[in-house]
Amino acid sequence: MVLKILKSLPLVVGSLWLAPLAVPSVFTAENAVSAARQAPTALPRESDLKTVVIDPGHGGHDPGAIGKGGTKEKNVVLAIGLQLARHIKTAYPEMRVIMTRKSDVFVDLHERGAIANRNHAGLFISIHANALTRRDYYGTETYAMGLHKSEQNLEVAKRENAVILKEENYEQNYKGFDPSSPLAHIMLANYQNAYLTSSLNFAAKIEKQFTNADRVSRGVKQAGFIVLWTTAMPAVLVETGYLSNAAEERFLRSEEGQETLAKAIFKAFVQYKKERDGVGDTAGL
Ligand SMILES: [Zn+2]
Repeated sequence: MVLKILKSLPLVVGSLWLAPLAVPSVFTAENAVSAARQAPTALPRESDLKTVVIDPGHGGHDPGAIGKGGTKEKNVVLAIGLQLARHIKTAYPEMRVIMTRKSDVFVDLHERGAIANRNHAGLFISIHANALTRRDYYGTETYAMGLHKSEQNLEVAKRENAVILKEENYEQNYKGFDPSSPLAHIMLANYQNAYLTSSLNFAAKIEKQFTNADRVSRGVKQAGFIVLWTTAMPAVLVETGYLSNAAEERFLRSEEGQETLAKAIFKAFVQYKKERDGVGDTAGL
């Protein structure tokens, strides 16, 4: 998230929205309906999971959230993402595990989803850490794309979406329109719908594993994240904790904390993959 930018440009951030990559660059009622019709209605025929994309948020000149102790979101989420990739590679050497970034570099939001689409990934996992001005709030949240059901969910999406203001040419890359318009809601309700059940299923498994690892889960939620909207596969955005909370910041910056979170997401991944591959019972995990 990007507090500094939000303070200076709240209206711009609030009104910016993304036309999905499949949608024509001019946003009209006709285009919206036609894009909704073209949205896939089922998981790809090849339902087993062979490629996963791990997307550590932010990077480079965009630090993301910064804790009072100086911990930067971009570093925490990269460490968790790399650990998660290692776990998956070790357990499934035949799988392709693609990182949207492996080092401290900036990647545009639309490029992150495009990497997943180009590689025909079966799952997209975006990893983030949260922050609020109030410091008593803590816990994890996992999001799937959708209409926010509370103002607070919308605020999280706005903070994460504000990243695009740090990109060059964002006005060309993201055609802005008002997210409160009925058309935008039609688009949101239709796009990613084919993958929503699967995304929510995976999100629930992640939050369950966080609870098993003694983290406080704030649950599975939905909101309009640009980075998820561009993906054509089940996709989640994990908020691994609040850097604005002193205890959680200490946890998030520690190797032990990062490994705990990576391992929890990995366990959820194992369960989810077994379901996708049609391989029985995962209750023991
Ligand atoms: Zn973030």
